[in-house]
Amino acid sequence: MGSEFDLISRFFKRPVPHGMLGGGDDCALFQVTPGLALATSKDLLLEGRHFFPDVDPFLLGHKALAVNLSDLAAMGAQPKACLLGLALPAFDERWLARFADGFYSLADQHGCALIGGDTTRSQAGIVISVTVLGEVDPTRAMRRDAAQVGDDIWVSGCLGAADVACRILAGELLDTEASQSVSLLTQTRQALEKPTPRVQLGRRLSAYAHAAIDISDGLLQDLGHILQASGVGASLQETQLPVHPALLGLSDMVLRRAVLAGGDVYELCLTAATSQRHHFERIAREEGIELTRIGQITAEKALHVFDQAGQLIQPLPQGFDHFRD
Ligand code: ADP
Ligand code: MG
Repeated sequence: MGSEFDLISRFFKRPVPHGMLGGGDDCALFQVTPGLALATSKDLLLEGRHFFPDVDPFLLGHKALAVNLSDLAAMGAQPKACLLGLALPAFDERWLARFADGFYSLADQHGCALIGGDTTRSQAGIVISVTVLGEVDPTRAMRRDAAQVGDDIWVSGCLGAADVACRILAGELLDTEASQSVSLLTQTRQALEKPTPRVQLGRRLSAYAHAAIDISDGLLQDLGHILQASGVGASLQETQLPVHPALLGLSDMVLRRAVLAGGDVYELCLTAATSQRHHFERIAREEGIELTRIGQITAEKALHVFDQAGQLIQPLPQGFDHFRD
């Protein structure tokens, strides 16, 4: 294994924009725009828990950053810089080169400079921790406690694909679904392995939205965080949920679980006054990203989902719990 410093200088020391001090000193330095708040978030990805050991390292590099950019998107923040923590069992040059390419290609797309990190040898599997740093107008940041009774609830893109891909790869989909699983995996895998963080969409909608969250642990669970923080409830219509088209042949139970509780989605769930609908529709058109109204914020502090017949769905499927075995 080469040294830690070899590894950093060979794979993680591409130039940073003028005016920033990147990796190589005790701290990185960059200028924060006066009047804006620094928005920061960190995610941890563990081999075997958050990704399969044999995943393409290019895609893993992409996803390690994408899940963090998605948090900035959900706040309406503009990415500026990021830090990369890596614990690796071995110095695998091919793996590192592809990981770095995946990471930097997404970072470059968003003008998010890699300005530092920490690297060490791991006794167990691969551990990746990314911290992102962004900027947001604090009066426009889409906080979870800002939903208001009567708001529309919106979702970007479509739901359920990542959960289905993950369950096929883990060998968990029921036998009855298995015959379709090869083509289903082909159609859903990208959602799991190469999610698109909705950065530009989040920034634009932050001018009109109240609250927002990115759907990492499942729609119901993540919307639940908005409801809890805002002291409100919600009523959703199942028929209005934007289902990934590849899932339409699945049984009702598998489909419902994937759409309502499936994690790893990285779409935005937002609330906004009904008077803002035309702005959402215009921005959806201009960005070429679907925005769907799926329900309303209610004063009653409960989350209700109604099926096609207008019946309350009970019990509701559960979202992802990071402490579950
Ligand atoms: P320190 O001892 O001060 O923690 P290190 O020796 O760990 O510093 O790291 C040396 C420099 O390399 C630091 O500027 C750090 O930010 C940078 N660095 C370490 N690991 C990474 C990484 N995975 N990606 C980018 N920069 C890194
Ligand atoms: Mg260090």
